[in-house]
Amino acid sequence: MFLDLQNITVRYPQTSSPAVNAVSLQLAAGEIGVLIGPSGSGKTTLLRSIAGLEQPQVGNILLDQTLLDGPNVRIAAEQRRIGMVFQDFALFPHLTIEDNIGFGLRDLARPQKKLRVAEMLELVGLIGSHDKYPHQLSGGQQQRVALARALAPQPRLLLLDEPFSSLDIELRERLAYDVRQILKQANITALMVTHDQLEAFAIGDVVGVMHAGQLEQWAAPYALYHRPTSRFVADFIGHGVFVPGRLVKTANGLMVSTALGELHDVNDTLPDYSTQYFDVLLRSDDIVHDDESRFKATVVRKTFRGADFLYTLRLEDGPEVLALVPSHHDHAIGEAIGIRLDVSHVVTFPATS
Ligand code: ADP
Ligand code: MG
Repeated sequence: MFLDLQNITVRYPQTSSPAVNAVSLQLAAGEIGVLIGPSGSGKTTLLRSIAGLEQPQVGNILLDQTLLDGPNVRIAAEQRRIGMVFQDFALFPHLTIEDNIGFGLRDLARPQKKLRVAEMLELVGLIGSHDKYPHQLSGGQQQRVALARALAPQPRLLLLDEPFSSLDIELRERLAYDVRQILKQANITALMVTHDQLEAFAIGDVVGVMHAGQLEQWAAPYALYHRPTSRFVADFIGHGVFVPGRLVKTANGLMVSTALGELHDVNDTLPDYSTQYFDVLLRSDDIVHDDESRFKATVVRKTFRGADFLYTLRLEDGPEVLALVPSHHDHAIGEAIGIRLDVSHVVTFPATS
């Protein structure tokens, strides 16, 4: 593996629990990893450790088969050839775009430097902007310059810490797509932090969820969404709620019975058959509005999202669920509507109570 973190623990002085706790993860060359998780879960600390700006107390960091951090080994940050793009990606306001991008290329002769800057401008789609100043560019364009500046010295690894969080949401969505294209074209290995799930799914080949210093799951976006391995990840990713379920053995195998009907094909998702009671994850896309259904639920809240409504629905026996419903089904709050389950991946955890 190109980037290999083995059991990394980072503790700041005078703190009770480690900021990063026994984290292991791998990235192949050219892969893009994305870390998401609540504020304070250790994402920035992990990135800073890889860059050599924090020192892990435990664990090994390897990049391209070279040990950067480990027992009695510590390669200085400047010698790691790792590029970083931060949240407040300050460009130098008094330098042209060309000089901003060329800033890290002091060792190159003038013609090579000009060539490299031109390549980078082309890569980020800003040909012709070389003699402009940062204030003459939009926020999104400035962010691309920051990316070009970080890529210009040909780092072995690029780290990005919430690079879009200062930009408005519409711009962010477009930029997320562009950045993935740019990173893939540059064929660079990258690890990015974001707090936006859609951004994580749009950019990452692999996505990791951090919680209280630990990496809860490290998986492809599809697996993370459909096969969360912990309650925290199930809760954190997507719009979902847990409803109680009871395990029933039938002639055809196991099923889980819930207030909204029976779920089959659950065998491979039940880790502990000795428990009879489970919490079943129901995401907004697992619940379908169906006037013919014998299961009714009352509309408690609704959010118009253009193509669909996100309805919060209360079931007869109390629990609330979420449902994404095409927006021509415009039901009033308090109305009882028919719903049924359409779950292709049943996710269960042993009941807590
Ligand atoms: P995130 O980037 O996920 O928001 P951080 O890595 O910034 O999380 O922080 C992880 C934990 O470490 C938090 O509890 C934070 O308060 C603590 N922390 C971060 N930086 C320092 C520091 N320089 N000194 C002491 N504690 C820190
Ligand atoms: Mg952070």
